[in-house]
Amino acid sequence: MSARPVAAYPAPATPALPQRILLVENSRAYTSMLREAISQRMELPVSVASTLAEAANLLDHQDDWFLVLTGMVLADGDRDQILDFFTARKLPTIVVSGVYDEELRKRALQQQIIDYVLKSTPDSIDYLVWLVQRLERNRRISALVVDDSPSSRSYIGSLLESQGFRVSAVADGSSALRLVEGDQSIRLVIVDQEMPTMDGIELTRRLRQLRARDRMAVIGVSGSTDASLIPRFLKSGANDFLHKPFSREEFFCRVSQNVEQLELIGTLQDLATRDFLTGLPNRRSFLEQSEKFLNGNSGNMAVTVVMVDIDHFKHINDSFGHEAGDQALRAMAHVLQAHTRPGDCSGRFGGEEFCMVLDDADPASSLRHLEQLRQAVEALEIDIDGRPLRMTISIGASRRSPEFPNLHKLLGEADRHLYLAKAGGRNQIRGLEAG
Ligand code: GH3
Ligand code: MG
Ligand code: MG
Ligand code: MG
Repeated sequence: MSARPVAAYPAPATPALPQRILLVENSRAYTSMLREAISQRMELPVSVASTLAEAANLLDHQDDWFLVLTGMVLADGDRDQILDFFTARKLPTIVVSGVYDEELRKRALQQQIIDYVLKSTPDSIDYLVWLVQRLERNRRISALVVDDSPSSRSYIGSLLESQGFRVSAVADGSSALRLVEGDQSIRLVIVDQEMPTMDGIELTRRLRQLRARDRMAVIGVSGSTDASLIPRFLKSGANDFLHKPFSREEFFCRVSQNVEQLELIGTLQDLATRDFLTGLPNRRSFLEQSEKFLNGNSGNMAVTVVMVDIDHFKHINDSFGHEAGDQALRAMAHVLQAHTRPGDCSGRFGGEEFCMVLDDADPASSLRHLEQLRQAVEALEIDIDGRPLRMTISIGASRRSPEFPNLHKLLGEADRHLYLAKAGGRNQIRGLEAG
């Protein structure tokens, strides 16, 4: 198995998702606070209506609707009419109400309304913004339901769908394992305990062999009152457990909490492994990936190790300013990333130095590839307040051989060739010459 570069290529593009949020509310003060809060924290377009007629007009003249947040006091409709109006249009809807009304809350939550939020609580705006953000992000997360009962499967599936997740559902453990094995994008699995052939605990144990807790959340569900079930689920690797029957609200809270934990871990991992300025793997992460790659490649397969250094970068900083220098570094990183093929690794080594490991059996392929990189950087022109900033790079490379068997020696040799490229006049590649 070869080490996979961190985001060497951009993740597969998600099809364009609806963006627009509709706020329907008769209180101008509340609407403008909420609108302000949403647009400050997210880049989503927000439209505002104060009556159902205005809402209908907006909805008819625009598509691209992602979410509706509606109040319950409007001049041209009572509560039932308001609920019916949005559910009939199948729009994901959040009810924002001025008064607590248990009857309304129950009805709203039965009617595929995502949530019922009380306006009067002091942090309702914060909660709503959090909720909108959560729902927005859920759309990029795939979830899997594993349950042998068709009704339970479709109920849990529809709960997840109403929270925006991309959902698949299967009836047994073996199908679940096959799906998860083939689909890296599955981040959440809801596992029923009572299933024929493979129960939920066994499935959880096997899922964990495929994907670690910090990559995919597993939530066990069961109607059993057996007290030993929860610890057994958790010890088999489940992140959480829910008793059937559960309410939509409870389900939503638990799922959100687990998904958020994954995101938090992802953020921490990013902070630890990515270079802040360019988003490339940092030095430590690059060294780790390359080491894994070199060791994994049966230990003696031919590879090329590369050091890249921007020429006269100090001069670029001096004449354009440090900010422009940063911009140049980001542009350089972008080109480097575009030249990192599946199987290659790249990173920012530090300052204006970058590094790569190329998965090429043949030095001539590496040379051709690096020559394309060199030319792509040379062709860049960054506009700095109307002045064109241009740069070139020098490249030193080394090939794995008995003399240079490990990463440490390979980097040293690449660095020696980099020095020769500088001494030879810069904007050139050394270390891969034929012969
Ligand atoms: P050479 O062609 O020999 O490599 O010359 P050089 O000027 O590129 O090399 P030198 O090592 O003398 O200078 C590197 C400069 O890169 C000095 C440093 O201020 C700048 N630099 C390092 N990191 C950053 C950064 O993150 N942002 C900016 N703007 N400049 C940086
Ligand atoms: Mg079952
Ligand atoms: Mg340097
Ligand atoms: Mg330099």
